[in-house]
Amino acid sequence: MGLIKVHDKEFEIYITSKAIEQRVKEIAEAINKDYLGKKPLFIAILNGSFMFAADLFRHLTIEAELCFIKLASYKGMKSSGKVVTTIGLEEDIFGKDVVIVEDIVDTGKTLHGFLPKLLHQQPNSLKIATLLHKPEATAYPLQLDYIGFAIPDKFVIGYGLDYDGQGRNLKEIYQVK
Ligand code: 5GP
Repeated sequence: MGLIKVHDKEFEIYITSKAIEQRVKEIAEAINKDYLGKKPLFIAILNGSFMFAADLFRHLTIEAELCFIKLASYKGMKSSGKVVTTIGLEEDIFGKDVVIVEDIVDTGKTLHGFLPKLLHQQPNSLKIATLLHKPEATAYPLQLDYIGFAIPDKFVIGYGLDYDGQGRNLKEIYQVK
């Protein structure tokens, strides 16, 4: 029951759509309180966060802006490490209250590489809202200001998250069996 197969792997329901809905509402309420009188800019990271961002945004009662960006990593020509580039950040974030919206923070590498680029543009404040967090997988410590669910270090799909392109449309979050 509640089992599905995506590509070669079996997944079972881990977080119900009802629990997600409730938690997203709670995060929105916290943000409504914290940003009262401000006009934050939400920067949602594609692709995985589109569903969380949409649901979170519809529960906001404060004035707020939303934009989506994509982060691409590639091997630097000389360096051995990965470089994170942004695709689509057209907004000027100078002096703005910015909230990053992520689907999941795993090792923290993606955001760790991206945050300095945003801070360089001197926003007034910068916070992170992530639906999921895998604390055990942390390799690059980050301050996460709003966390939906802390989960074990197991692969999950659904509610925007994919396994090789599939599974984003699932209403629940599923964990690999
Ligand atoms: P990090 O840079 O924090 O290690 O990883 C962040 C990105 O890895 C997420 O935005 C997501 O795209 C991907 N990711 C990490 N863990 C999972 C997972 O359990 N399921 C899926 N579908 N993607 C994941």
